[in-house]
Amino acid sequence: MAIERTLSIIKPDAVAKNVIGQIYSRFEGAGLKIVASRMMHLSRAEAEGFYAVHAARPFFKDLVEFMISGPVVVQALEGENAILKHRDLMGATNPKEAAAGTIRADFADSIDANAVHGSDSAENAAIEIAYFFPASQVFSR
Ligand code: UDP
Repeated sequence: MAIERTLSIIKPDAVAKNVIGQIYSRFEGAGLKIVASRMMHLSRAEAEGFYAVHAARPFFKDLVEFMISGPVVVQALEGENAILKHRDLMGATNPKEAAAGTIRADFADSIDANAVHGSDSAENAAIEIAYFFPASQVFSR
């Protein structure tokens, strides 16, 4: 299987719940390496740019407000089949539909405040990692 990288964000609700370490443990337990990491408070422009693909969706404004409501932790993860593996760890977008034991089932409250983001394709992973990290700040190992 191919070694991939994916972009992960621990969203403001999960940071506020003090579960950064528990979420990092799940990544490491699944064999994903944290190859870049950054805590930051997104500006409105940064959040709008990151979610530009959703700009026409009815939930876009609320999504941006939520993403700038507090600090987030952004990381690049690397490992075999990393994109799908990370999506499996996250669970479904709506935590009510997320499988037991997934991050969203355990830590998310609603479809709006759903704890984590993860890239959904190799193409988007490359774009999203570059959005937050210059190549010199990704430490492949
Ligand atoms: N979202 C929302 N309401 C919806 C659908 C999505 O607030 O009805 C938010 C939610 O935070 C989600 C993000 O928009 O994580 C991106 O949506 P997407 O369908 O790409 O879900 P994901 O890839 O995050 O599971």
